[in-house]
Amino acid sequence: MTIDLIVKNNLCTGCGVCISEDQSHQAKMIWNNEGFLVPSLGKSSTQDKMIKVCPFAIQQKNEDELGELFLKLPETQYHDKIGYYYGLYAGYSKEFRETSSSGGIATYVFNALLEQKIVDHLFIVKEVDGQYAYQFFSNVEEITQISKTRYTPVTLEKLFQELSKVDGKVAVSGVACFVKAIRLKQMYDPVLKEKIAFIVGIICGGLKSRYYTDYLAQEAGCKSEYSHAQYRVKNKESHALDYKFSCIEKSDKRIHMVDMQSLGDMWGTGLFKSNACDFCDDVLTELADISLGDAWIKPYRMDGLGNSIIITRTEIAELIVNGNDLVLDSIDENKIIESQSGSFNHRHNGLLYRIQLYKSQGRIVPFKRERVLKKQIFLLNMIQKNRLLTREKSIYFWMKFNDRQKFNNAIKIYLYKLRFVSKWTHRLIRFIQKIKL
Ligand SMILES: Cc1cc2nc3c(=O)[nH]c(=O)nc-3n(C[C@H](O)[C@H](O)[C@H](O)COP(=O)(O)OP(=O)(O)OC[C@H]3O[C@@H](n4cnc5c(N)ncnc54)[C@H](O)[C@@H]3O)c2cc1C
Ligand code: SF4
Ligand code: SF4
Repeated sequence: MTIDLIVKNNLCTGCGVCISEDQSHQAKMIWNNEGFLVPSLGKSSTQDKMIKVCPFAIQQKNEDELGELFLKLPETQYHDKIGYYYGLYAGYSKEFRETSSSGGIATYVFNALLEQKIVDHLFIVKEVDGQYAYQFFSNVEEITQISKTRYTPVTLEKLFQELSKVDGKVAVSGVACFVKAIRLKQMYDPVLKEKIAFIVGIICGGLKSRYYTDYLAQEAGCKSEYSHAQYRVKNKESHALDYKFSCIEKSDKRIHMVDMQSLGDMWGTGLFKSNACDFCDDVLTELADISLGDAWIKPYRMDGLGNSIIITRTEIAELIVNGNDLVLDSIDENKIIESQSGSFNHRHNGLLYRIQLYKSQGRIVPFKRERVLKKQIFLLNMIQKNRLLTREKSIYFWMKFNDRQKFNNAIKIYLYKLRFVSKWTHRLIRFIQKIKL
C-alpha cells in the first residue's frame, strides 16, 4: 500500500504525519473536493518512508501491538474494548465545564500539564481568524482559549515540522487515528517519546467534512461567508443532547444559531463523514495517556452542562485527575462501553460486513484487528449498507448543490430508508428475543 492508494481510496483522515517523512519536502496537506484535508505528493516524495507512519497502512503495527509497547505495565488493567488503563471515571471540572464542550476535562488536564510543568507547550486545536487549526500554545493564563471541540478537519502537519524549533516538552490532543500516527512516529524515533510527553485522546465518532459546518451554517440562517463556528452551545436548563450550533455571518457580524435536535441525527446516520472512519476500530482512543469523551449515560446525560467519561492510561494521567477541581465518580468497564454503545455497534459489529462488501467491489480496505471482526445477522448488515450509502450521498449532494434546501430534499429518501430499515430490524430482533424467552 502507498500514500497515493490511501488517498485515492478515501482512506485518509488528514492527520498529516506522513508529510514529516517525505525526504523531498515536496508533500503538503491540501483540501480535496470532498472537504477533507489530504496529502498532495510531489514527484520525488518518499512514499516508502511516509507510509510507515500512516495509521491506515496495511503493513503497520495495530493498536493492540502499540498499546503493549507504550502503555502495558504491571499496574495497568486491560479490557479488550477499552485497552490498557489505570482508572475509569465520569464527571466534570468545576472551573472549566461551563466554557467547554463537555465536562471541561481536556482543558483541566492541559491546564494542569502546563501549571505543573509536565510540559512546556501544548499543540492543540484553537481558533485563528475565526477558523480552527492545530497550533502551539503555552499561555496558561488564557487556557480557556483552547477549549471546545471542533467538528471540522484539522491536521498535525505542522507539529513535526516545528517540533525541533520548540524548547521543552509538548502535549498534544488528538482523535484515535492521529494518536496512532504519533505513536508510530515515536516507535521509530524514541526521542519523540520524550519530546511529546503527553497525549490527550479525544474519543471520536467520526471525522466530518468541512461541508458539515457549511451545512450547519446555512441551517442556522447564514446566507454568506461565516466564521467562529461553535458546535456545542450548551443549555444548562436542559439535558446534554440539547445543544445548538452557532456562527457569525461576516457581512453583518450577526450571530446565527440552530437547534441541533431540530436537524435530526447527524452522527448515527453517517452524514458528511469520512469514508476512512468506517474502517476505524479504535473507539476509545486506546493509545493516548488519557481518553476523554461524552458521558452519554444516565444520570450524567441528563445534565445540560455536560459530563465527560475519562480513561486514565498512564500514571501521570491518574495523578492529574486526582486534583481538587474535579467532581468525579469511579465507574466500571460496562458503563464506559455503554457510553459509546452506538459507536461500538457501528465500528466493531458492522466492520466485518463493510470490509467484505468493499472487497467484493474490488475496493481497498485497511488491515483491521482480527479479534474485533464479528459476523452479524443479515438485517443488521442492511443497516450498514444503507448507512454507507447515506454517507456517500451526503457528500455527493453537498458538492452538487451547496444549498441546504436542495440537499435536504435529495438526501431525504436515503435517510428515510435508513430509518425504516433500522426501526424494523430492531423491532424484529426484540420480537425474536421475546419469543426465544
Ligand atoms: C471529530 C470529533 C468527534 C467526536 N465524537 C465523539 C463521540 O462520538 N463520542 C464522544 O463521547 N465524544 C466525541 N467527541 C469528543 C467530545 O466532543 C469532547 O471533545 C470530549 O468529550 C472532550 O470534552 P471536554 O469538555 O473535556 O473538552 P474541552 O475542555 O472543551 O476541550 C476540548 C479539547 O479538544 C481539542 N480539540 C478540539 N477539536 C479537536 C479536533 N478536531 N481534534 C483534536 N482535538 C481537538 C481542543 O484543543 C481542546 O483541548 C468527538 C470529538 C471530535 C473532535
Ligand atoms: S499519514 Fe495521515 S495524512 Fe498521511 S495518508 Fe495516512 S492518514 Fe492521510
Ligand atoms: S472515527 Fe477513527 S478514523 Fe475517523 S477520525 Fe475518528 S479516530 Fe480517526
